[in-house]
Amino acid sequence: MKLVVATTSAHKWMEIRDLLSDVPNLEVLSLRDFDPLEEPDENGLTMRDNARIKAQAYAQAFNMPTLADDSGVEVDALGGAPGVHSARWIEGSDADRTSALLERLKNTPDVERGARYRCALCFTGPQSTMIELEATCEGRIAYEPRGTNGFGYDPIFELTEATGTPPEWIGHTIAEAPPEIKAQISHRARAVRQLAAQLHNLSTR
Ligand code: IMP
Repeated sequence: MKLVVATTSAHKWMEIRDLLSDVPNLEVLSLRDFDPLEEPDENGLTMRDNARIKAQAYAQAFNMPTLADDSGVEVDALGGAPGVHSARWIEGSDADRTSALLERLKNTPDVERGARYRCALCFTGPQSTMIELEATCEGRIAYEPRGTNGFGYDPIFELTEATGTPPEWIGHTIAEAPPEIKAQISHRARAVRQLAAQLHNLSTR
């Protein structure tokens, strides 16, 4: 089966492609394999809504099985913000958004810096199959950016015991950990692994 992973983020695309690499008979395509399309309006109230909006829009345009990801970081001290608005709550780059988040939390003590990444996936496939999945990765917001791996909020997202993190990486940011660790425990890894199992069932039915 050919599957379009419909994301404009090269980082997300590579993570998902690698996480799906063990699914037999699956060829993962990207938006770059098609003529450019206008991006759908991500006006859902939740990540799940936005993943569905993106999957349906691209599936209709390409007439092919499509997978969309909507994700973000939820900070406890901010009542779960920026959440679904993680990509857009501050104009500018990823670095601008991480600095703005650190600034908001500058007087927030350790015990209140809890946060989680959330990933919502929506797969639309043959015979109107739709699979919606969500997974999280618990952590804590650091006091300053550390590390160069990953993307987005990874330099300020510290791993804790709660995620099943190998002990040597607890207290490190995701950007300090090697990509193999992110591929074991991240929100996206957890969601894509569940999807991979279901795709496997679909392809062997
Ligand atoms: P989306 O493209 O609307 O889903 O926006 C996702 C937002 O959450 C972007 O700002 C990303 O930087 C951030 N984000 C999502 N997943 C990750 C991740 O795995 N690491 C770091 N930031 C992430």
